[in-house]
Amino acid sequence: MKSLREKNNKSILKKYKKVNKSKILIIYTGGTIGMITDYESGSLKPFDFNHIEQEVPELKKIPYQLDTLFFKNPIDSSNMNHEIWVKTARLIEERYNDYDGFVILHGSDTMAYSASALSFMLQNLDKPVIFTGSQLPIGVIRTDGKENLVTAIEIAGAKKNGKPIVPEVAIYFEYKLYRGNRTTKLNAEHFEAFTSFNYPILANAGINIDYNYSKILRPSSAPLKVHYNFDINVGILTLFPGISKKYIEHFFAMPELKGVVLQTFGSGNAPTERWFISILKEAISKGITILNITQCKKGEVIQGRYETSKELAKIGIIGGKDLTLESAITKMMMILAEYSSPETIAKELVKSYCGEIKEE
Ligand code: ASP
Repeated sequence: MKSLREKNNKSILKKYKKVNKSKILIIYTGGTIGMITDYESGSLKPFDFNHIEQEVPELKKIPYQLDTLFFKNPIDSSNMNHEIWVKTARLIEERYNDYDGFVILHGSDTMAYSASALSFMLQNLDKPVIFTGSQLPIGVIRTDGKENLVTAIEIAGAKKNGKPIVPEVAIYFEYKLYRGNRTTKLNAEHFEAFTSFNYPILANAGINIDYNYSKILRPSSAPLKVHYNFDINVGILTLFPGISKKYIEHFFAMPELKGVVLQTFGSGNAPTERWFISILKEAISKGITILNITQCKKGEVIQGRYETSKELAKIGIIGGKDLTLESAITKMMMILAEYSSPETIAKELVKSYCGEIKEE
């Protein structure tokens, strides 16, 4: 195992020799998985990844070449943002040809956002990028971190007929592999922290790892193309019964607002009151993109199914079908940075980039 530490933008390289099988790069961004308890203060602090094999001796038995690269200042994932997505994607792009797969260690709180964002950034992916983390620090006896880490590595290096089995951005957590951009954090306490409501799991880890081959994306034959631009002039508006005109007016008055993910009821329904519709209509006429997704965890938006969503379609609100909130907002940030024509933006938002949305 070799370990690379970011230092003044350079990396210190420590070389270890191992059997030349799959080569995996583990990138530690922060989060509970890389924490140990500081016995003096009692609080959690990141441990030194140079000594990961002391914490997880099981890694020595994995027949892959493992290298680690860790952020100089690991973050709690509540501090995640588009700049760190860019940094992470750049680390992958720069080393893309040197590795067979990548494991991203990340706090679970915003992991579904980062996995969604990276899935859109890393276009034409033909290697696994597997996110994982844990609910308990790796230095704690009952940690879920060891199993998550070891199996995520195994999946990142798994090949069939010489080709990676999972050439997509995925999340591995508590025996299950999910498509990253279909995943949502569901539980703040249980080890089973994630779920994917609208797409089947990609693999289940028991005695063997059972891959759901037909549900896994095929590798791209085009070269990797990384998308680095995001427009953060976006917002999420969650409707609730009794929502006031004042609240919605204030929301849309945000200077430079370019896009809104509107979280509606059921299959995409919203109030039919005139004032509500006219605020939305005015926003659209000013060039603000509005994408309708449902507050329901499962199911999809079908604008026009009920009277209460017909008007939304009529005024130009885009139906986001079964996109998760995490996918909807990260995809919108990316599409708005890329395109300016409202017709193209609408088309791109509902097009499947990497299996994040139901296809017709
Ligand atoms: N607050 C932590 C984070 O998201 C929780 C975790 O690591 O799972 O960074």
